[in-house]
Amino acid sequence: MDPIRIAVVGIGKIARDQHLPAIAGNSAFSLAATVSPRDPGPGTVAHFKDFDTLLAEGPAFDAVALCTPPQVRYDLAAQALRAGVHTFLEKPPGATLSEVMALNALAEKTGVTLFASWHSRFAAGVAPAKAWLAERRIDAVRIAWREDVRVWHPGQDWIWEPGGLGVFDPGINALSILTHIMPRPVFLQSATLSLPANRAAPIAADIHFRDTAGAPIHMDLDWRQTGPQSWDIEVETDAGLLKLANGGAVLTLPSGVQHAEDLEYPGLYARFANLIRGGRSDVDLDPFRLVADAFLRGKRIAVEEFHD
Ligand code: NAP
Repeated sequence: MDPIRIAVVGIGKIARDQHLPAIAGNSAFSLAATVSPRDPGPGTVAHFKDFDTLLAEGPAFDAVALCTPPQVRYDLAAQALRAGVHTFLEKPPGATLSEVMALNALAEKTGVTLFASWHSRFAAGVAPAKAWLAERRIDAVRIAWREDVRVWHPGQDWIWEPGGLGVFDPGINALSILTHIMPRPVFLQSATLSLPANRAAPIAADIHFRDTAGAPIHMDLDWRQTGPQSWDIEVETDAGLLKLANGGAVLTLPSGVQHAEDLEYPGLYARFANLIRGGRSDVDLDPFRLVADAFLRGKRIAVEEFHD
């Protein structure tokens, strides 16, 4: 079978750290071209400053990975889908729920694959955690996602703009795990969003969710963490405590600890290839909807200005 010729659009941190290596490591794909306004690309394939020029003048390609900030992703994805190009959306899949729903409808109409990716769901501990919880009564969930924004997002102005999600940019990863491992639907009850006086997006959020059986779920998101960082989810059950640490990579069950290799992006590309070969799409909006609900129902408080 011929490899899927793929273009990568938006050569920034995640494209360089994860997408380009995952594509190089998967024989189902061959890199066809890259697009980025300022970054020169890896230099191994044709590079274009914008997607229009790639579509008009570039080599043929079957698929595209959109690794730009979310605010510009809709127009790129709609162009790709209209051109019959299978489309991989980095998380979050867009800047609004409605635009991603419109993309989903467009993918159905054009018959090409749309993949709204959630990389944290491919962390090693997540699938076994989901299987273990399916059998259990869930009594409570605690999520602590506390990191230093200066370390992880230096100079990323888009993340503080409307649609950039602020602290929900990492927080949505926790929600992508939560909505995947919980056996029942989860919804938001209350939220407090802390916005720096000089920024449009929250630097911290304290949120109470519950599931439809009444289990309380508390989420503590904070970008002001210095020292040890935490990306942890704890689930109290009738059979003891489940803990997912390191963003889902390390699972601790009452019976012991399971470590495994980090296979998030190789897992995403294996899934994308399967979807394309099977003529299917995968657009799960549950994590994004919970974030939208936090912005819809959350109380905003002003906190100290943030300067990079
Ligand atoms: P980033 O470092 O700011 O990179 C994004 C790149 O997109 C920029 O370098 C910019 O390229 C390019 N870009 C902007 N507008 C464009 C357009 N209209 N057409 C083509 N390229 C455009 O951001 P990032 O950290 O890689 O994050 C990108 C996305 O991946 C976000 O949705 C983020 O949530 C997600 N993500 C990030 C991480 C992470 O650890 N950083 C992890 C998982 C997922 P130029 O520099 O050439 O202008």
